[in-house]
Amino acid sequence: DGSLTHVLGLVHDVPDHPRPGILFKDLTPVFADARAFTTVATELAARVGEADLVAGIEARGFLLGAAVALVAGTGVVPVRKAGKLPRVAGSRTYDLEYGTATLELPAGTVPPGARVFVVDDVLATGGTAAAAAALLTDAGAEVVGFGVLLELTALAGRSVLAPVPVHALLHA
Ligand code: IMP
Repeated sequence: DGSLTHVLGLVHDVPDHPRPGILFKDLTPVFADARAFTTVATELAARVGEADLVAGIEARGFLLGAAVALVAGTGVVPVRKAGKLPRVAGSRTYDLEYGTATLELPAGTVPPGARVFVVDDVLATGGTAAAAAALLTDAGAEVVGFGVLLELTALAGRSVLAPVPVHALLHA
């Protein structure tokens, strides 16, 4: 019905950000557009399936994850960058191209056995999503799927996350 074409038209390419040679996909105009925001939240919520909780990865995954959870009728949990949470259930450090990053899960949010759908804006190498999934698994949850607005297919993040299914609305 052209709704995803409308979304795609709002994705803005930023050359050489954050470093020379990187083509950054700026998705903030998608969130700012009422029709596009409704489309992405609704389309991803339709893929939540049997999950009983949505986890959103800081920071654009918070915007998307909360909207997806509301449409799907689940709760939402923020997977945060290190040092922000007052009570930490677990922590995972993973490698970036330069250096490392750490993600943390808030205590008191994920019951053992919870089925969790992990949401972020962009899937690139898969390192971030894999670390979020490891945190959730450490907490006794089961990650049943990943949902992203945009998958950068050439970076093969999907293979890092296999066999858990990745649902991407757009590919670049
Ligand atoms: P990965 O860990 O390499 O898969 O990178 C994914 C993480 O980096 C996500 O949290 C994204 O928000 C962010 N990211 C990577 N590339 C882009 C991009 O081109 N646009 C927006 N976010 C990006």
